Amino acid sequence: MTAKMYFEKDASLKPLEGKTVAVIGYGSQGRAHALNLHDSGVDVVVGLRENGGSWNRAKQDGLVVMTPAEAAAKGDLIAILVPDMQQPDVFESAIGPNAKEGSSILFAHGFNIHFDMITVPETMDVIMVAPKGPGDLVRRQYEEGKGVPSIMAVHQDASGEAQDRALAYAHGIGGTRGGVITTTFGEETETDLFGEQAVLCGGMTELVVKGFETLVEAGYQPEVAYFECLHELKLIVDLLFEGGLSKMNHYVSETAQYGDFTRGPRVVDDSTKARMKEVLEDVQSGRFAKEWADEYRSGLKEFRRMEREDNEHLIEKVGANLRAQMSWIEPDDADESSAA
Ligand code: NAD
Ligand code: MG
Ligand code: MG
Ligand code: MG
Ligand code: MG
Repeated sequence: MTAKMYFEKDASLKPLEGKTVAVIGYGSQGRAHALNLHDSGVDVVVGLRENGGSWNRAKQDGLVVMTPAEAAAKGDLIAILVPDMQQPDVFESAIGPNAKEGSSILFAHGFNIHFDMITVPETMDVIMVAPKGPGDLVRRQYEEGKGVPSIMAVHQDASGEAQDRALAYAHGIGGTRGGVITTTFGEETETDLFGEQAVLCGGMTELVVKGFETLVEAGYQPEVAYFECLHELKLIVDLLFEGGLSKMNHYVSETAQYGDFTRGPRVVDDSTKARMKEVLEDVQSGRFAKEWADEYRSGLKEFRRMEREDNEHLIEKVGANLRAQMSWIEPDDADESSAA
C-alpha cells in the first residue's frame, strides 16, 4: 500500500474544540456532515436561504439554522456544501465578506478551487474532506457505528493547522472509521469527475441501457431484459464491493465466468479505453468544467432535455412497474442519495 491512511486512533476532535463549524447547504452531504458533527459533540450551525426547502428540515433535525452570511460570520470552519455550480455565488455573496480572520473553508469536492472558479483570500485555510459515498450513506453508516472512507486535502494553510482541522472534521463525520487518505485538490477533482463520467454514473448506465435495448430489440420481453440488465446489477456490485473480482468469480457460475472472460472484453475493449482517455483529457484540460459552467449559466436547457430523455426511456416505465411489486425496495431511497 502506498497511500498513507488515518484511522480513529490517529485523529481527535481537539483541533475543533471551542470552535464553531458552519455547514452551508443541507442537501445530500450537508445534512450528513452537520448531523454527524453535531452527534460527535462539535458545535454546528447550518447556513441556509431563509425559508427555503431545507430550512425546516434542518430545524426539525434539531440544528441551529441561520442565513449563509450569518453562519459564515460565526464559523471558525466553514463547510461549503451547496451544489458546485452555486458555490462561486455563495462564496462571493455570503462567505467572502463575512468570514472571520483565521477561519478555514472546507470543500467536499475540489472543482471550484482546482478550476479557479473561486479565489479564497490568503488569510483563510482551504481544505477538503470528500467522503467516497453518497450523503445518506455518510449519515446511515455513522449511526450504525461505521463510516464512509474519505479523502482529505490542503490547498492553502494559513493557520498552520489546516491539515489537523481537516482530519478532525473527517473524524467528526465518521470518516476515520473507514479510513482517510490524503490527496490533492487536483487529484480528487480529476479522479472524481472521471469516475462518475466513465465508470460510475455515465459508463454504467450506458452499459445497462444498451444491454436492455439489445435484448428488447431482439424480441425478448422488456421485463425479462430489465431483471437481467438492471435489477441483477446490485447483486454483482455487492459481491465486487465485498471481495473484488475474485469474490464475484467465486459466486457466479462457471458458465458466467467463461462468458465474462471471453465476451466481456469484446464489449468493453481497448477502443473503449481509448475513449476513456479522451474523457479524462477533457477533465484534465478544464474543457469539461468550462462546458458544464456554460451550460449551467445558460439555463440548463440541454441538461433538462437529456434528463427527460433518461426519465422517459422504456427501461424506466418497465422498472417502475416491477419495483412497485417489490415492497422491500423503498421507492424514495433515491431522493437523498445523489452520489458521486
Ligand atoms: P445537494 O444538491 O444535495 O444540496 C444542496 C444544498 O444547498 C441544499 O440544501 C440546497 O437547499 C442548498 N442550496 C442550493 N443553492 C443554494 C444557495 N444559492 N444558497 C444557499 N443554499 C443553497 O448538494 P450535494 O450533492 O450534497 O453537493 C454538495 C457538495 O458535496 C458538492 O461540492 C458535491 O460535489 C460534493 N459531494 C457530493 C456527494 C454526494 O453524495 N451528493 C458526494 C461527494 C461530494
Ligand atoms: Mg446515462
Ligand atoms: Mg443469470
Ligand atoms: Mg471481466
Ligand atoms: Mg462528484
